[in-house]
Amino acid sequence: MQLRLPIALKHARAWCVAALSGPQMLAFLPAATLAAFWLGGEPALIALAVAVPFLWLLFGGVDASTRARLARIAQTGLVPADQFVPKAEVVHADAPASGKSSAIFTVELDQFAELQDRFEPAAVDKVLKAVGDRLVTVSRDRDTISRIGDSRFGICLGDVQHIDLESCLQMCSRMQSAIEEPIAIDGTSVYMSASIGFCLLARAPGADAQDWLNAALAALIEAQRRGPSTVRAYSSELQSRLKHRADLRDEVAAALEQGYIQPWFQPQISTDTGKVTGFEALARWIHPDRGAISPAEFLPAIEASGLLERLAEVMIYHSFTALKAWDSAGLHVPQVGVNFSGSELSNPRLIDKVRWELDRFDLTPDRLTVEILETVVTNTSDDTITRNINALTALGCHIDLDDFGTGNASIASIRRFGVGRIKIDRSFVMKADRDPEQQRMISAVLTMAERLGVETLGEGVETVGEHALLAQLGCDHVQGFGIARPMPFEKTLDWVRAHEAKLQDAPVIPGRRAN
Ligand code: C2E
Ligand code: CA
Ligand code: CA
Repeated sequence: MQLRLPIALKHARAWCVAALSGPQMLAFLPAATLAAFWLGGEPALIALAVAVPFLWLLFGGVDASTRARLARIAQTGLVPADQFVPKAEVVHADAPASGKSSAIFTVELDQFAELQDRFEPAAVDKVLKAVGDRLVTVSRDRDTISRIGDSRFGICLGDVQHIDLESCLQMCSRMQSAIEEPIAIDGTSVYMSASIGFCLLARAPGADAQDWLNAALAALIEAQRRGPSTVRAYSSELQSRLKHRADLRDEVAAALEQGYIQPWFQPQISTDTGKVTGFEALARWIHPDRGAISPAEFLPAIEASGLLERLAEVMIYHSFTALKAWDSAGLHVPQVGVNFSGSELSNPRLIDKVRWELDRFDLTPDRLTVEILETVVTNTSDDTITRNINALTALGCHIDLDDFGTGNASIASIRRFGVGRIKIDRSFVMKADRDPEQQRMISAVLTMAERLGVETLGEGVETVGEHALLAQLGCDHVQGFGIARPMPFEKTLDWVRAHEAKLQDAPVIPGRRAN
């Protein structure tokens, strides 16, 4: 209870509470009791026993000690998560009126999932406790610090005279350095890093502290998108970017369901015979206003919406439809390459689905080539991915190792996953006919592939010179704008016919090149 007292009385009250509740009471109480007994006998003893707690209560001892305890918690620890927003609300409401400012920081550990995989829950808690303590250490007493998620912390600065982006960034750097100090658990040192998003009160959107916190969280998510140990500030541009991204996610999901996302096909040809050896299926969003949109623009939105599995289904369906149509048209297209991302490959039902679709279309498994990025093969510790790739090989599908040269795949993994062909990345093919260094790299890859008994394909072949060089060095297949750009299915029929006609014509006209 809060009494309205004059200043002098307030001081007296504070003195009494301090005198009655401090550790000195332990020393003086026995002496006071003895003196009361000597001087006034039993009645004085009883009076003292009643008076001390009475005075303590009268002067608001309970109130003062609770406040002192809360103050101590604020100084030395974290406030419970449900108190974070109410405390930020006070700053949100009061700071602008008194011409002061503030900021909310949201901090999240970058490697929390790995930490949970590696350690027992008790050890993980120790790490979180250490991180919380360090955030307290680098903050001021008046700041509110709370664990607002699994490995997520919120820090709301108590109002300050002046704060700007520069000082916020310095504060972030102090927090990150504190978190990055090694943490000792279970006899080992754990190294953590954190990403931070923050929002200055002056830039906070909306009407209350929850909106302010949400803005800091939006900045945190943006920071996490940019990789570990990153800091981002909230701004209105960030807000519109996020809105655009959310709209794109909705639009792309609808487009996928309504059939506006389809494969375009890019031919692959043999350097030896010049014949078509397959097509790669590349996703295109056929937008009613914008025309064909490339995957770089919409794949991240598909991934963020968790729709990669659905995309793979659509790509397989259209690719198998195309194979049947080429067969019916009497065109010889041995196989189609479909790109499978890491998350599609970790789908435990993948093999059943592929087998079912092959059956449905009455196609043999060797008509499907699964393109797997070299980086996926290199970094996988996921058993399902390994099992799926092996099962696809066992089923009789081909495996192409995509973007080879960008991911450090080991020779062991090329063998382990039954890779049938290496797709040499465009970065090695570019200007290879004029750059001896590029030629040396390609030769090294070709030699390795030959020893391992796997085929090779040069990607992104744009010029006749690059095509000729790859053929001379012994690369088996080529693909690129120099042969043909990706095209809608309808155009493939004419393209294959024209290409075959060109091949047949070539020997009849002496001296003319087939290109
Ligand atoms: P990728 O698998 O390496 O595909 C080759 C990319 O290089 C394609 O880009 C193709 O259009 C482009 N390209 C082909 N020849 C040339 C050339 O001569 N010069 C140049 N500069 N580029 C060439 P696209 O279609 O934009 O696809 C980009 C990436 O998106 C693909 O790279 C692939 O990783 C991914 N992707 C495409 N479709 C799918 C899909 O259905 N599922 C998944 N998961 N990823 C896909
Ligand atoms: Ca590919
Ligand atoms: Ca590639």
